[in-house]
Parts: sequence; C-alpha cells; structure tokens
Amino acid sequence: MVDNKSTSSSTSSAVAIIGAGPVGLYAALLMGKAGVDVHVFDKEENVIQSPRAIAYFPVVLEDFKTAGIYEDVCQAGWKNTIGASWRKPKNGGKLAHLGGNDPTKFAIHLGQHELAAVILDHLSRLPNVSVRWNTSLERFEDLESESMVKSYFAYGPDKVPQQHVSRFLIGADGGRSTVRKLLGLPLDGFTWDDWQIIAANVVYDMDTESDWGPANFIVDPDIWSVIAKTGKGPNWRVATGERVIEGLTEGSWDEEEGLKRTRQRLAALLPGNTDKAEIVKISPYKMHQRCAPSFRQGSVVLAGDAAHLTNPIGGLGLTTGLMDASLLGHVLNRILVDGQPSSLLDVYAEKRRAVFVDFTSPTATANRQRLLGTDLETLKEREDFFAKINKPDIPFLKQMFESEMGVYSNPETI
Ligand SMILES: Cc1cc2nc3c(=O)[nH]c(=O)nc-3n(C[C@H](O)[C@H](O)[C@H](O)COP(=O)(O)OP(=O)(O)OC[C@H]3O[C@@H](n4cnc5c(N)ncnc54)[C@H](O)[C@@H]3O)c2cc1C
Repeated sequence: MVDNKSTSSSTSSAVAIIGAGPVGLYAALLMGKAGVDVHVFDKEENVIQSPRAIAYFPVVLEDFKTAGIYEDVCQAGWKNTIGASWRKPKNGGKLAHLGGNDPTKFAIHLGQHELAAVILDHLSRLPNVSVRWNTSLERFEDLESESMVKSYFAYGPDKVPQQHVSRFLIGADGGRSTVRKLLGLPLDGFTWDDWQIIAANVVYDMDTESDWGPANFIVDPDIWSVIAKTGKGPNWRVATGERVIEGLTEGSWDEEEGLKRTRQRLAALLPGNTDKAEIVKISPYKMHQRCAPSFRQGSVVLAGDAAHLTNPIGGLGLTTGLMDASLLGHVLNRILVDGQPSSLLDVYAEKRRAVFVDFTSPTATANRQRLLGTDLETLKEREDFFAKINKPDIPFLKQMFESEMGVYSNPETI
C-alpha cells in the first residue's frame, strides 16, 4: 500500500528504508515481493524530479526481469539499440562508436524519476509495503540487545514527531545521507575541484537537425559533455562541464544567468539551429569520487548514494546503487524469510564496497578523463581506446562488455 499521509505517531515493520529514491524503492520492491513487511520514509512530498540518471544497461535490465518490472520499464522508456558515440562539439565529427551490432543488447533511456514511478506502481500492489512522504528522519537508536532500531521522524511542515520500530534500517537517503551522518561515517575520497556539471533537460528535434545518435560523449578540454536522449520523444539531457565558479553550486543558482550560459553552451555544442531548443530544467552539481569506510553498523546498512558518490560520466552512479539494492534485498530476504544469520549483512557491505572502490570509481574516472584530459597519458589512452573500438578489436570489446558485470554481485555466491 502506498500512502501520502502519515497520521499515526508510532509504527513498526521488519525493515525501515530511509529514502524513496530509486535505490530505496527498488530494495523495497525486492523485499516486498518476498513478503517482507517494509516501510519507506521520504522527507519530500513526492519523488525528486530534478535532471539526474537516465540510462539502464543490460546488467540492470536483467535484474529488473527478476523484480518483475522489466516490461514496464521498457514500455515507459526508449530502447537504445544504436549505442554511443564519442564526438567533437557541433559539426566536428564522430571520433568513435560503440554498440549497435547486437539487437539483443540494448540500454533503456528513462529519467530516474520515471523509473521511480514504475516501481511505485508495483509497490502499490503490495499490501506489506508502505511509502510515507513528508516524513524526515531526525535520529535513531540501534538497540542491538533488543534486536531493533527505533527511528524518530518529523512529519510535515509542522514537524509532528513520529516513531518507528524496525528490525533493520536501510539508509538510502542520498549523498547528504542523515543515516550515514548519524552513524558518524565520513565519505572518504575527493571532490573534483576543477570542474562541475550543469545538467539541463532540453526539448530539441535533434533527429531532424542532425545525424547524431541517442548517446553522445563530447570530447573537448573546455566544453566536454554528455548528450543523451532521456526517453521517448525529442527530450534530451545535456550534462556539460563548467569550470568551478563561485556562486554556481547546488542551491545557489541564479536562474537567469544559468539560462543564458546554458543557451550559449547549446549553441557551441549541438548541431542545427539551437534557437529552436527549449531548456526545461537546469541543475548545477559537483562531482565526487567518495565512499563510506563501511556500509554496515549493527542493524543499519547503507546503499546507493548514501554509501558512495561518483562522477556521472558513463552512468555508473545509479547503476551501482541499483545493484546495491539488488544484493541487499536478496540478503535481507535470506535473513528475514529463510532465517539466515544477520552476519550476512557483512557480506553485502564488503562486496558492495569493493565493487565501488575497485570498479565503479576507477571506471567513471577513466570515462571522465577521456572526455577532457589533455595530459600525454590520457591522450594516448584515448587514442588507443578509439582505435580498438573503430578497428574493431573483438577481444577488447568482448572484455569491455564483460567488464560491465563488474558492477554486479551475484547473490548465488553468498
Ligand atoms: C545531474 C546528475 C546526473 C546523473 N546522471 C546519472 C546517470 O546518467 N546514470 C547514473 O547511473 N547515475 C547518474 N547520476 C547519479 C544518480 O542520480 C544517483 O546515483 C541516484 O540518484 C542515487 O539514488 P539514491 O536512491 O541512492 O538517492 P537519491 O535519488 O538521492 O534519493 C534519496 C532520497 O532520500 C530522501 N531523503 C534524504 N534525506 C532524508 C531524510 N533525512 N529523511 C527522509 N528522506 C530523506 C530524499 O528526499 C530522496 O528522495 C546522476 C546524478 C546527477 C546529480
């Protein structure tokens, strides 16, 4: 059951999830389908609508089959059987192209808020799952001796106090995670201090204006970008690099100045007459490579952006978060339904942290450098990479597609 109001002051469930982003909702679905009693809490009135993740790769789509949402996700999104290109800006030409040879391997383009809507629809059919909006976690007590976590929330604008008791608590509350902070865990790593990203949702008839495909990495030391369809119709995401400037950060954004800069950037980047482009929404954000030192403390676990943050070039942030949710859902089902020991959560925590540190962060860093790097090492790597793709070097491509599995943790091995 999904409700928008919460009036009772004290509730309980086997699992409480903080955060109704895609990661929290996906974990709720996997456990809800196994019959586990789950309550999800989110401080917002509804799913966050700002321009964020837009692509789901084969490894995630396979998982969606198990969760029963594959068909609906494919129906809601746009199927990319064409692949991705690396290009110079505007009419500078194509440098390399990857994919498009095997129609059974495709990505689905769909805004993450639309993915969340699909999952919410499936959750609404599960009487053992509830989603409570306008409910912000303030603190919790992990009463390990009593095998329970007591959480304290503030509900609505009047901050009405609410309490909830659960066996386990999942922090899926994003990069500024209250759960992680309450656990006293830092996000180790670094923030890229040279560049930030301006993400814009743009309506533009690129198919008429150009021969560009649905996913484009723009290679340029000054105006590097990722430009991709966000779903059906002429809807595009332009995520473009801006040198870090004072006063141009999340939460301190001058709309007028932002619109002016983005329009200039579109003219420099996109083919055709960009005066026809409609800029729907813009968000500036910083890029990080950061990870919590541990994803578990007692009955409390972290998943998604609450546990790790990466730059978004190549779409590995949410991909990794959804694969966290997949393993975590599986592990908690084993504990709560099959009676396995809760020490299984350590396996979840270690495996998923290793995936971020050993695969996600280095791969996303290489993806980013390939677009904007000018040092000799990067130039050589880029040249080799494009040569292997364009040749094509089959063993290299096979290895690359297989490496996508680096983001996945097979639950059967636990
Ligand atoms: C511009 C941009 C583009 C991106 N593009 C891509 C991409 O193409 N591919 C990709 O894979 N990733 C991408 N990412 C990353 C992706 O958006 C994140 O990895 C994803 O949102 C993580 O999902 P999540 O559910 O962990 O967290 P979130 O989506 O941030 O959800 C967290 C939820 O927790 C709630 N919350 C927070 N604090 C509390 C509290 N105290 N109490 C209750 N609720 C709380 C919030 O309201 C929110 O709904 C992009 C990110 C950005 C910023």
